[in-house]
Amino acid sequence: MKYIFELPRVSLPVKDREQQFPVNRVFCVGRNYAEHAKEMGADPDREAPFFFSKPASAVFVPQGEVPYPPRTGDLHHEAELVVALHRGGHSLTVAAARDCVFGYSVGIDFTRRDLQAEAKKQGRPWDTAKGFDASGPMSELVAVEDCGWLDRGAITLSLNGEQKQQGDLSDMIWKVEEIIAELSTYYTLQAGDIIFTGTPAGVGAVNRGDVVDAAIAGAGQLTFRMV
Ligand code: MN
Repeated sequence: MKYIFELPRVSLPVKDREQQFPVNRVFCVGRNYAEHAKEMGADPDREAPFFFSKPASAVFVPQGEVPYPPRTGDLHHEAELVVALHRGGHSLTVAAARDCVFGYSVGIDFTRRDLQAEAKKQGRPWDTAKGFDASGPMSELVAVEDCGWLDRGAITLSLNGEQKQQGDLSDMIWKVEEIIAELSTYYTLQAGDIIFTGTPAGVGAVNRGDVVDAAIAGAGQLTFRMV
């Protein structure tokens, strides 16, 4: 069988490198910071974090602007540490999981919160709430060889210069290597997979014209306007 079309390939730039990082799959962790779990009405002592995903086509490095998506009146920002894998495997130990990390980025897990609330109420999937076009803007990747292992440091998001989200990577319920090890019990992870590792408290609405500025010490900075 011969394809009569070419599959689009998503790849991400890497800081100070010629090479691009080809994206395979995009996994996300829900409720990985206790204070965010609480603001969403959950009890982090009773419920573990969990996984969902976005299509690879959702992630990109914006050139100053991100389009406001259709079918929502309540688009929320979720600033997150993004981890890119250059190798994978299944049922990985925590030590083996560490060796899978190629690098990091700061990304936004954009969420159509109104659609998510309806999906939760109806017991339906989250895909339309989470996996829409341009729902995963992120900064260029930084190789772990260059920035070192990141397990602490500030993660922040401001809207029009006003700080909305502030947390520390050390507050993550599942650490990066634990996320990878846990995820590898559900999926055989592969080179090119990336993971949004959850957001700290302070999520809220973004509107057209707003300037979003997210940063993680060591992993980079992401600035754009919603249009
Ligand atoms: Mn999220």
